[in-house]
Amino acid sequence: CFEELHGALGDCSCNVDTIDYFNNVKIFPRIQSVVGKDYFRFYKVNLKKECPFWVDDSRCAMKYCHIKTCSKESVPGIENGYGNDDDEEFPALKYSENAQTTPCGSDTDHDPALGYLNMTLSAASQYEIAKWKAYDDSIGNFCECDDKDADAEYVDLSLNPERYTGYKGPSAHRIWRSIYQENCFRVKTNPYESFPYVLSSDLSNMCLEKRVFYRAVSGLHSSINIHLCSKYLLSEKKIGFAAPPEGEWGPNLEEFQRRFDPSKTFGEGSNWLKNLYFVYLLEMRALAKAGPYLEREDYFTGNPVEDEETRDAIRNMLGVIYTFPDHFNESSMFTVGNQAIKLKQEFREHFWNISRIMDCVGCDKCKLWGKLQTQGLGTALKILFSGQWDSFEGDSDQGRLMLKHKSHKRLQRTEIVALFNAFARLSNSIRELENFRNMLSTHTEAP
Ligand code: FAD
Repeated sequence: CFEELHGALGDCSCNVDTIDYFNNVKIFPRIQSVVGKDYFRFYKVNLKKECPFWVDDSRCAMKYCHIKTCSKESVPGIENGYGNDDDEEFPALKYSENAQTTPCGSDTDHDPALGYLNMTLSAASQYEIAKWKAYDDSIGNFCECDDKDADAEYVDLSLNPERYTGYKGPSAHRIWRSIYQENCFRVKTNPYESFPYVLSSDLSNMCLEKRVFYRAVSGLHSSINIHLCSKYLLSEKKIGFAAPPEGEWGPNLEEFQRRFDPSKTFGEGSNWLKNLYFVYLLEMRALAKAGPYLEREDYFTGNPVEDEETRDAIRNMLGVIYTFPDHFNESSMFTVGNQAIKLKQEFREHFWNISRIMDCVGCDKCKLWGKLQTQGLGTALKILFSGQWDSFEGDSDQGRLMLKHKSHKRLQRTEIVALFNAFARLSNSIRELENFRNMLSTHTEAP
């Protein structure tokens, strides 16, 4: 798959090799440092929402699907409040009824019983769908923020790494199929209606906007699958008499090749990898566009030293992102005639739909990372296409005025956390490709 993973990326003036270098050398270490900060470690999410589209018949039986949530008290800066009355975000956190009793550090991953998730079976909720359809257009959101739901809980992402969970089969396939077939503007699919869901050869007949949509989703799919290959369950070790076995995680080259080698994927594998680079570019462009705003956020956790370090790390990373020579050019999208507004609206609705499909994922850890990454991508799309950020960039007078008077719509904490973590995941995937590339060359050189 690496032989074909070179040169032009398509739909932008960038190429794969430029991104490889830029990411692996410049961005990867910086974004890792950013998301390692307390502000970015805690993500508030509702994992108990009913699946609005079909009866949720899925259960992940593996213990590795389980996630650990945190008590409100263990999230820095939340318990004491943000201390800023004009912040619409933090009062909701302060008065959350949803206090958990488990401290964040307690490790319960090893309880085999936890693998059997207690997921309520439910019929599709018409009420929920109606609510989703009635969302306020003026906000320009691309996905639903559920952090204020009563069932929302804090998750310490560092304790719940994205990795192989064993979630697969009809449930996982139904999610991916729904995303591609029902939401990607009903692109022409393979005549057998089986895999691959969409053939890359059909993309050339599609308009730019629809192609961008498909490529973003496919890139996200690649990233998720690269992570499960690079943190694969290699073995389970018994560590004590009474304790259940502990997993050992690491890269699985064979699994990676099965998923991305063109000879095993109807010739599609390297296109799927290129789509990863494409969605990376899209999110990086959003960070650059909202950069002046993101540089001025407080990133409050209650620890002034940590907060200053976080702001420094962000300024440092954004400074490097600004220097990238071939940013994605979103201004070429949604420009053609009367159709443009309708197309943009459709684009947003389809993405919203995908964010709701994440509530149907039958493995909590996959759902957590699926939701976070769709919210991150949705936030990037909002920055690129809602129009709220268009006059914001650089040192424009209007941009500075908006910052001064805070008259622009701010991103919510959860959106910022999702945006940076989602970008960190993509950056990590590109970095993992380098590892697989090296493994492959060692593997083929061996006698
Ligand atoms: P799948 O990945 O299920 O793909 C189905 C079909 O889609 C493939 O046969 C292929 O034709 C096509 N396809 C594959 N990749 C692409 C692409 N990039 N672009 C376009 N088409 C493609 N498993 C874990 O172990 N850990 C996780 O954290 C995890 N998170 C998940 C999150 C979500 C939201 C979902 C839906 C699934 C998640 N999974 C996770 C499951 C994982 O993605 C696979 O579905 C599972 O491993 C089964 O893989 P598969 O080989 O059957 O192909």
